[in-house]
Amino acid sequence: MQHTMPVHESMSQFGIDGDSLVVGGMPIELLAARVGSTPFYAYDRSVIARGIELLRAALPKKIEIHYAMKANPMPAMVCFMTSLVDGIDVASGGEMKIALDTGISPQNVSFAGPGKRESELRQAVAAGVLLNVESFREIELLARLSNELGRAARVAIRVNPDFELKGSGMKMGGGPKQFGIDAEAVPLALGKVRALELAFEGFHLFAGSQNLNAESICEAQNKSFELAIKLSEHISYPVKLLNLGGGFGIPYFPGERRLDLSPIGENLEKIVEKTQKIFPEAKLALELGRFLVGESGIYVTRVIDQKISRGQRYLITDGGLNHHLSASGNFGQVIRKNYPVAIGNRMSPPCNDPTTIVGPLCTPLDTLADKMLLAEAELDDLVVVFQSGAYGASASPNEFLGHPKVTEVLI
Ligand SMILES: *Cc1c(COP(=O)(O)O)cnc(C)c1O
Repeated sequence: MQHTMPVHESMSQFGIDGDSLVVGGMPIELLAARVGSTPFYAYDRSVIARGIELLRAALPKKIEIHYAMKANPMPAMVCFMTSLVDGIDVASGGEMKIALDTGISPQNVSFAGPGKRESELRQAVAAGVLLNVESFREIELLARLSNELGRAARVAIRVNPDFELKGSGMKMGGGPKQFGIDAEAVPLALGKVRALELAFEGFHLFAGSQNLNAESICEAQNKSFELAIKLSEHISYPVKLLNLGGGFGIPYFPGERRLDLSPIGENLEKIVEKTQKIFPEAKLALELGRFLVGESGIYVTRVIDQKISRGQRYLITDGGLNHHLSASGNFGQVIRKNYPVAIGNRMSPPCNDPTTIVGPLCTPLDTLADKMLLAEAELDDLVVVFQSGAYGASASPNEFLGHPKVTEVLI
């Protein structure tokens, strides 16, 4: 039985030369030799730059794009991103260090996260980073730290909105949440921020993640904007920043299509117009992680064994869920689906019978591809998992089972 290669949109980001996938201008075998060992992640700068160019072209000029670096905190990546975006969003003191090490102005760094330690808040105030405050404890601590350090903390209120981003992979707003301050408690928080003389800059509204539906993203942005207008009735000083969140997804699974940016651009155009009237001093920002870097990355692991078990073909590779938890389906998936996968040095041959690719870990959870149609592979071939630029290496349990850590390159 022969099938043709199932083409996934993500593969179109890269080239093919003969049988080889070409990433960053290099055939995959050469790239593997340059890295020196498998498994590895490779992130292609040109894919990121092209994606951001398309995004900017689709959005109004006034919209700032911030990179939420938890999607991929590799220092070289964060450094590269500072040349393409308007700000970096960090979610820990560790991320803040990486961001500041790039030389970015602290003016353009913001810090969100539901459990900020006192030491992290102190560092952020000292650095002059914007804090997205998420609790009354943070407001009070920041007042003390501002006094101690002799500089007023820059704060935006992270609002837990009274709505959700529909159809989102992970909901991060609406209903009871650990994130942000409930919209109905924000007037009280604003009063405290004022009384304690913190430097208020605006609102941060983030409703969810991994959304491929432009309509629901527009709806969330409109509701966020309306909510910001309502909340601003409780303050007498100007709003300098409205961070409308993000939630832009990328296609992973069969049947998923790329997010259509044009309706989002049109909708934001209207928001920009209204902002100029209602909040004349405000900058408008989106913060995106996955959307900016996800499609630029591949995970490459080598076939080290193969077997047929009761009729089912298996390839066993030198890396798996220890490096790429999300591709194994164990990072927030409810029903496991295959990421796009190919044999990177056999891109043109027809596909074989359904093949299951597993990593070397002694657990059935370590599956990279379940019964996929792939070229017939041999030992030493290179298995490539696409859409791996976000929530890969840093979101995986590298220590689990004591295998070597994964290498990352930015090319
Ligand atoms: C995780 C996170 C993001 C990025 O989410 P993506 O789905 O990767 O775009 C943005 N903002 C905040 C506050 C986050 O916690």
